[in-house]
Amino acid sequence: MRIAVIVGTRPEAVKMAPVHRALVAAKLEPVLISTGQHLDLLRSALVPLELAPAYELALMMPNQTPNGIASRILERMPPLLAEIKPAAVLVQGDTTTAFATALAAYHLGIPVGHVEAGLRTYDDLNPFPEEANRQLIAHLTRWSFAPTELAKQNLLAERIAAQRIHVTGNTAVDSLLWMLERQNAPASAPERAPYLLLTLHRRESFGKPLRDILGAVTDFLVAEPAAEIVWPVHPNPAVRALATELFEHHPRVHLVAPLDYNLFATTLANARTILSDSGGVQEEAPSLGKRVLIARETTERPEAVQSGHNTIVGRERAPILNALLAAWQDPPYHGPLPCPNPYGDGHAATRIAKILTNDLLPWFDKATEEGSIAPTVLAS
Ligand code: UDP
Repeated sequence: MRIAVIVGTRPEAVKMAPVHRALVAAKLEPVLISTGQHLDLLRSALVPLELAPAYELALMMPNQTPNGIASRILERMPPLLAEIKPAAVLVQGDTTTAFATALAAYHLGIPVGHVEAGLRTYDDLNPFPEEANRQLIAHLTRWSFAPTELAKQNLLAERIAAQRIHVTGNTAVDSLLWMLERQNAPASAPERAPYLLLTLHRRESFGKPLRDILGAVTDFLVAEPAAEIVWPVHPNPAVRALATELFEHHPRVHLVAPLDYNLFATTLANARTILSDSGGVQEEAPSLGKRVLIARETTERPEAVQSGHNTIVGRERAPILNALLAAWQDPPYHGPLPCPNPYGDGHAATRIAKILTNDLLPWFDKATEEGSIAPTVLAS
């Protein structure tokens, strides 16, 4: 029984890798399809996570737009799915890859499973276009794999049927723990190195907000003369240009290319302080006993803010500087690793594979007999 597993960007690879492994362990037949939405970043996660796409659509183009990617996926994905004949298609998160593929599968009557369903800010422009993507996917989906109870409640409020929602935890935690184990990470927190880890890539912050965030980083470097910055710079030209302009020659700012996932996991584990607008980083850091200062106005991942792990610091210079200075003095975490994490226990993917097995097996023989390409989306 083939299950199409779709990836297009780095976080999709990180979060689908454990699902792929769990499907293999459950004796299903995952078929990894890459749209190549962000080809290089995708590889920087796929390779360390030991995954290779069975099909690579390589749809990335210079100056690509969400509409361009969506239209190419809608053109290329249906014949591929018709050839593979999957019993289900799994998409992850809120990318254009995930939305356009879910729509294509829905049009073909192939049931869609949505990994990391139910995250919401209810602000259509924040994050853009991800908020619209994930809301739309919810209505095309047979299985909503919600990472947390709150995500489930969001889906229920949108009248997604309760029997289609499964709280599984977030597969980001599965991947991080897998990688740390692979690297023989110590069972307790390592000594922190004196650097602030920075990751920034949100489209809605390009321009003045990004400049203000980086202004706070500049002030921080003045206030803390022993502090270093490690910044894996996202390849988006808007981010790169500003990073180069402000910090290219700064002796304590290390501008590096995006790190392969294995290196990033170690860099995260060793950081003293983290300032980021990344979703995945917010989910990963609690497992390492780290606080993320979230450089955004809002987050669709409030659980770790409510539990005191992470802090929203906004995008204005003065409050971010204050938060950085305070976090720099946070006492280090010395307890055992991994820490309890509101986003999961590292077993989300196994739960997903089990649910799919239970639900699909009864349909599978019948569908094969009838020669349909998959159990219909309306069958349950
Ligand atoms: N990540 C990585 N290398 C980097 C920066 C981030 O491997 O240089 C990983 C990180 O561990 C997390 C994921 O990429 O799993 C987050 O991706 P990103 O921030 O691009 O997207 P988001 O999570 O915000 O959708």
